Amino acid sequence: MVDNWLNIRQFFKIGHCLSCCQPLSLFEDFCPACVDSLPYMQSHCPGCGESRPDQIGENLLCGQCQQTPRPFASVRALFHYQRPVATYIQQLKYRRRLDLARTLGLLMAKHLKSTDKTVDLIMPIPLHRSRLVGRGYNQALELARPIAKKLALPLDYKSLVRTRKTKSQTKLSIDARRKNIRHAFAVLGNKVAGKKIALIDDVFTTGLTAEAATHALRKSGATSVECWVLARAGLGQD
Ligand SMILES: [Zn+2]
Ligand SMILES: [Zn+2]
Repeated sequence: MVDNWLNIRQFFKIGHCLSCCQPLSLFEDFCPACVDSLPYMQSHCPGCGESRPDQIGENLLCGQCQQTPRPFASVRALFHYQRPVATYIQQLKYRRRLDLARTLGLLMAKHLKSTDKTVDLIMPIPLHRSRLVGRGYNQALELARPIAKKLALPLDYKSLVRTRKTKSQTKLSIDARRKNIRHAFAVLGNKVAGKKIALIDDVFTTGLTAEAATHALRKSGATSVECWVLARAGLGQD
């Protein structure tokens, strides 16, 4: 009977650590050892998310960000874009592993929440409608749902929209990425006016997507925009 129950749990992949597969109680996704060994980002520049040695002050911008300030208030990245997190992101995006969004979203809520409680609204980076139809879901929204729930903050996934179908940024140079993403977002209605927003995305590479979304939100009266991202990737990694 016990064996049968274990087999059933194995078959349905419930109650097992997503990383090492050891059995866990239902609704747990990682064993404590695996959750501790994920590639967490330690100190990073609050302007661009670039990792750096721990001893540099938390709020100090890197040279690049001091020279060219970004429109968003800060970037908070939970992980380096490394295995196994990079694999989870690929599975979440391309293999419908929506269970991973819940697990990873809860980890984001636990580690990235504003300590000064200044965020009013959680918003995912939207996909263009044609990409949403193709994939069937927006991975950033699936990450945003558990974050909003856990932090008891309102989730708005309708006000910010992608008005232009853009090419995948992955293989483009920085200049081509900037041109590709410019004016790709618009804000509908007036729900963002006066709000401090946490913008949720799975991967942050150059930050140009978040910049374009932030410009649209600020133009519509948002007071500030923080970017909360699951992983920070280097160019060519995403
Ligand atoms: Zn494990
Ligand atoms: Zn920076």
